[in-house]
Amino acid sequence: MVYSFTQISQYLRCPRSYRYRYLDGWREKETRAGMVFGRCFENALGAYFRREDCGAVLFQEWAAYRDAPFAYKRAETWDRFVHQGIHLLERFVQADRVRIDNPTKNLQVKILQTLPGGSEFIAYLDAIGEVDGVPCVIDWKTTASRYADDPEGLLSLDPQLICYSWISGISEVALIVFVRKHAPEIQYLRASISEEQRREFGRLVETTVHQIESGHFNPHSGIRFPQNGCVSCSHLGLCLGNEQLIAANLIRRAGATDLDWLDELMD
Ligand code: SF4
Repeated sequence: MVYSFTQISQYLRCPRSYRYRYLDGWREKETRAGMVFGRCFENALGAYFRREDCGAVLFQEWAAYRDAPFAYKRAETWDRFVHQGIHLLERFVQADRVRIDNPTKNLQVKILQTLPGGSEFIAYLDAIGEVDGVPCVIDWKTTASRYADDPEGLLSLDPQLICYSWISGISEVALIVFVRKHAPEIQYLRASISEEQRREFGRLVETTVHQIESGHFNPHSGIRFPQNGCVSCSHLGLCLGNEQLIAANLIRRAGATDLDWLDELMD
């Protein structure tokens, strides 16, 4: 088996949801405009570091979804996304705080690690480069609202960044957050991940994989704050036996579990 951060975090959220997704093949329909736009935007960032026309790449990639049946949130439109994206790219280029040498090698960096039981763990780091002159692992995010950055050091508790630090062995990490709001903003957030955090994450991966391979998929259900995971769970229809919800949110592609690690590329 090949595991990824997305798989481990889904299992930790709710093992039943993991079983629906990774064993039974129930996937969420791709109706979220923000997620698809995020992928187009990251391709445009790649073009910028390769010294190509990043604005043209963003427009071209996003144009493929002009008539896609996305469920846009209030005040969101196809045009609004592209305008915000171009504005964010301009601000990013002007600020010039991020450097990626040799983008062919240091963008979408694939790292594969063999786990003690013989399974493998795969990660695709968005980039390895420098932020404000500090060498680090870089993760891009596009979002509609700012990331919490207070109190100081909060970012060092982000599990995805801890995972990337663990698999790369690089202690310095950065999250570059492209905030699509009325006045677009870019957050440059940095943190240091300790050796102890990396060791703990390695142990978490091992115990989680052991649970998965032992066939433990009990539900972690919850509908009340702060454990209200069922409310936003795409598999809710399956747990409630609600055919209408299943048809609205899910699509079944059984038999493709060997390619599930590809989710990592989209995260
Ligand atoms: S609806 Fe709740 S119990 Fe069911 S899979 Fe989702 S999170 Fe788990």
